[in-house]
Amino acid sequence: MKAVRFHQHGGPEVLVLEDIPEPEIRADEVLVRVHACSVNHLDLFVRGGLPGVRYALPHILGADIAGEVVRVGDLCWRVQPGQRVLLAPATSCRQCEWCLSGRDNRCAKYAVLGTQLDGGYREFVAVPEWAVIPIPDELNFVHAASVPLVFLTAWHMLFGRAGLEAGEDVLVLGASSGVGSAAIQIAKLFHCRVIATAGGEAKMAKATELGADFVIDHHTQNIAAEVKRITGKRGVDVVVEHVGAATWDRSMQSLAPAGRLVTCGATTGYDVKLDLRFLFSKQQTVMGSYMGTLGELHRVLKFVFAGKLKPVIDSTFPLAEAAAAHRRLEQKEQFGKVVLTLP
Ligand SMILES: [Zn+2]
Repeated sequence: MKAVRFHQHGGPEVLVLEDIPEPEIRADEVLVRVHACSVNHLDLFVRGGLPGVRYALPHILGADIAGEVVRVGDLCWRVQPGQRVLLAPATSCRQCEWCLSGRDNRCAKYAVLGTQLDGGYREFVAVPEWAVIPIPDELNFVHAASVPLVFLTAWHMLFGRAGLEAGEDVLVLGASSGVGSAAIQIAKLFHCRVIATAGGEAKMAKATELGADFVIDHHTQNIAAEVKRITGKRGVDVVVEHVGAATWDRSMQSLAPAGRLVTCGATTGYDVKLDLRFLFSKQQTVMGSYMGTLGELHRVLKFVFAGKLKPVIDSTFPLAEAAAAHRRLEQKEQFGKVVLTLP
C-alpha cells in the first residue's frame, strides 16, 4: 500500500510517499481503507521532533481518519465490511482504573494516532473495533476526517474541564484554528456569548460566520482591553487557550472573578508567567486539557451527525502532496482544516 512516512525529523520535505506492506488485523481489530485524513498542528510538531520525545522511525503521521471498513477480526461484532466510518483519534488500554471509569484520556497507555502509534497518512489502517464509529451517509469523508481531534478537544476543554454553563461568556483564542472554530460553535450551541480572536479582516469575518458575537483582531487590538470593553469591565467566565506565550498575559487579564482558563496547547511557546496575586484574589482557575474521552467523542458526534456542529474545511490535498499541506499550515494562511484525500 501507499504511505507517506518520514525517516528523520525535519521540514515538510522529509515526508516521502512509499510502498509498504498492508497491516495485519488481530481478532479484535478492524481494517479500514483510509479515504481522508486531516492534518493537525500536532503532525507538524511530531515531524519536526519534540525535545525529550522519541518516535519509532520511519513514522506515519495522522490522527484524524475517515474511510471504509474492508475487513473485521473474528471477535468483532458491531462493525461490518462496507461501513463508512471515522476513527477515534487515540487508543488506550481499556483495562486500567482511568479507562474503566471512562476517563481514558488519562490512561498511561493513551496514544494519539500518528504520534506514539502510526497514523492515517496511508491507504489502510488497523484499529480496535471500539475505536471505529459509523458515520451517516450525508457526511462525506473529508468532513468526517476533520471532526474527531478538534471537536473532541474543544468539547473536553469546555465541558470535561471548564464545566461550561449556558449563558456564560467565553473568549476563544484563534478562531481560524480547528480547536477555535469548534469551540466557537459548541459554546454558541449552549447559548453562551462568544468573543473570538482572529488575525485580519478576512479571518474575522469567518469567525462571525461561525457564530462569534464579537471578534477581536489579535494582530492590532489589545485582547484584554477589548474583552473588558465588551463585557463592561467584568471579563469572561471561560478562556479557551491554545496559543500560549504570545497571548497568555492577555488571556489571564480577560478572566472575570472566578473565571477559568483552560489550555490545550502552546503553539507560540510554553514559558509563561503566572501572577499569584490575581490568581488568589480573583479566585481564578487555570487548567490543562488533553484530547478527551471516547464517551465525549460519541457525545459531540451526535451534534455533528445532526448537522448542528459543522467542521470547517480550508483545503484538500492528495496524500502524495502531504508536504504542501504541511506548508499551508506552517504559513498560517488557513481557516479551518487542511485535509489529505485518498481515492
Ligand atoms: Zn487505560
